[in-house]
Amino acid sequence: MELNEVKILGVKIHKVTMNEAFNVFLNLINMNTCQTIFTPNTEIVMAAQEDKELKTILAKGDLVIPDGIGLIYASSLHHLGLEERVPGVEFMDKILKFCNTTKKSIYILGGKPGVAERAAENILEEYPNIRIKGTQDGYFSEEDDLKIIDGINDARPDILFVALGAPKQEKWISKHKKILNVKVAMGVGGSVDIWAGTAKRAPKFFIALNLEWFYRLLTNPSRIFRMFAIPKFMIKVLIDKEFSK
Ligand code: UDP
Repeated sequence: MELNEVKILGVKIHKVTMNEAFNVFLNLINMNTCQTIFTPNTEIVMAAQEDKELKTILAKGDLVIPDGIGLIYASSLHHLGLEERVPGVEFMDKILKFCNTTKKSIYILGGKPGVAERAAENILEEYPNIRIKGTQDGYFSEEDDLKIIDGINDARPDILFVALGAPKQEKWISKHKKILNVKVAMGVGGSVDIWAGTAKRAPKFFIALNLEWFYRLLTNPSRIFRMFAIPKFMIKVLIDKEFSK
């Protein structure tokens, strides 16, 4: 399926609303090879300026959704046509709802030891018909990759959620997608912590005012260095003539 896309500082983002993205997902879940979903925000777009491997991986993503209000502001200023933010955490929830009604199965990879299990318990409480085929924490060495992939492939989940943080999760998915026996692999970052209760999503007030990033900074000040990417991005948005190339 050909999807419209935009380029933000050279990074490919699909031009999709939440509902359109979900329709794309419904196609991806019926393919025969592992399809990839990535959820870049402003910080990731900025990281991809230095990290060409990350930029290439995002360019090859089967569904790359705009998860970050900075991307929407940039799109408005440059008339690129992104209509709305598609937060990864909400998209994951839509997928979980779908799995609940269709009895599709999932596997959760990532997070500190115990986090994926706790997330799985809470997901099951909310969506009792989902089949959770397995969980695995995200603190393993590269030598263990194949063993972990064997575990996933033996479990045969439809969807693999990978929460190793960006850009590790994007690189892990891209490196292994050819041998992953799943329909869809999606990088979900901190969403697994939100399901586990080890992190909280911003209150609705912050989300409504497009200040979710600010809430994340307040509750996790160690992100400040990563978040310097946001003002740098906004400056580029305002002055960079090559912005949407
Ligand atoms: N994480 C992991 N293995 C790693 C690094 C991170 O499993 O080697 C997990 C971390 O425990 C957290 C998730 O990845 O649950 C997201 O990490 P972070 O908040 O750094 O990423 P973000 O969501 O901001 O991209």
